[in-house]
Amino acid sequence: MSLATLNLGKGLEPALLSGHPWIYRNHLPAHQLHSGDWVRVEAGKSAAFGLYDDEGAIGLRLFSQHDVPDDAWITARVEEALALRSGFDDKTTNAYRLIYGEGDFLPGITVDRYERYAVLKTYSASVERLVPTVVKALGQQLKLRGVLSRDASGLTPLYGQKPPPEVTIAEHGLKFIANLYEGQKTGLFLDHRENRKWLEPHTSNRTVLNLFSYTGGFSLYAARGGASHVTSVDVAEAANEDAKRNFALNDFDPDAHDFVTADCFDLLARYAQQNRRFDVIVIDPPSLARNKKSRHAALRAYRKLNATALTCLSPGGLLVSASCTSQVSPEEFRRVLGDAASEAKVRLQIVHEAGHASDHPVPATFPEGRYLKFVAARALPLA
Ligand code: SAH
Repeated sequence: MSLATLNLGKGLEPALLSGHPWIYRNHLPAHQLHSGDWVRVEAGKSAAFGLYDDEGAIGLRLFSQHDVPDDAWITARVEEALALRSGFDDKTTNAYRLIYGEGDFLPGITVDRYERYAVLKTYSASVERLVPTVVKALGQQLKLRGVLSRDASGLTPLYGQKPPPEVTIAEHGLKFIANLYEGQKTGLFLDHRENRKWLEPHTSNRTVLNLFSYTGGFSLYAARGGASHVTSVDVAEAANEDAKRNFALNDFDPDAHDFVTADCFDLLARYAQQNRRFDVIVIDPPSLARNKKSRHAALRAYRKLNATALTCLSPGGLLVSASCTSQVSPEEFRRVLGDAASEAKVRLQIVHEAGHASDHPVPATFPEGRYLKFVAARALPLA
């Protein structure tokens, strides 16, 4: 098979040399490629091999700088990815990301593990051709019951069997129900695992408000950390029902805590008006910007949400604020929190910062891979 070569022009030489995995469509010269075709690209003295896609802003996903990847190349990447996750002790944590696409040098493919099942997602049609090799390599390395592909139509088995309607996974020794068929993302928000754990020792004898609580992730760690009371708020009734079941599953009495089905923006404004106070407030909203254009609106929303939360914190209380909006950089998010502190008239001390954990690795030359911001800060009265 003869391979097309596209010359991208010298301007893209540094990007190709760095191993950056994307070429935007508007950087491609005229060509006759079809979705799923392998292509060699060159720029100045550098070259790379990638898959072409007809749709989306990313025209090419690059894999190797040496050759078209064969099965052995793909298998080697899967093995590297698994080696990075070998430190997890299955007894206490058996849900984590096995392959983080570009982060594991397999652009466009993510795989999440939930106990003995793995859920695979592709982000472009072209990479579908790599899936059988990825699945085979995973199957050979891990004792999985099933590897499933998840898309809009549901779960399709790629290997082994389908999971039951609910799988119970372990995360740092806590149990969580995961619905791999309908849960958000591939079931749970695995990216915050270490951030949830971070919260635990900061909750002893404190009142905790967990905003955008989904199935109670941060709330369960707060309960285990000895929080005197946890209020979990999510707009989705079903998520709250699962949060209550997760409390019971871990032997925490759901009736001793509050699970509120409400819009967090409205509820928080009401709490502020009512002078409600909490010792710890966790804020983990969904992405607030879908594209660059909505970035400013997202920054304003973060500022308002965090400023209102700060007015609901007891003196010396802890604001634990996350952002998964990739268009907002860690620096911008920190600045937003600073602005929120000025608006709320408090001194805000950042005591901890993180992103996602080691199962979501970010190549040094692919900063786009880091989307999650997690900041914990103590709020003190003006002095
Ligand atoms: N912190 C969670 C994940 C949160 S995901 C964890 O660790 O598992 C974001 C959640 O926000 C989703 O459950 C979604 O239902 C909820 N949500 C989205 N918009 C909302 C709104 N305006 N008010 C309340 N909840 C909202």
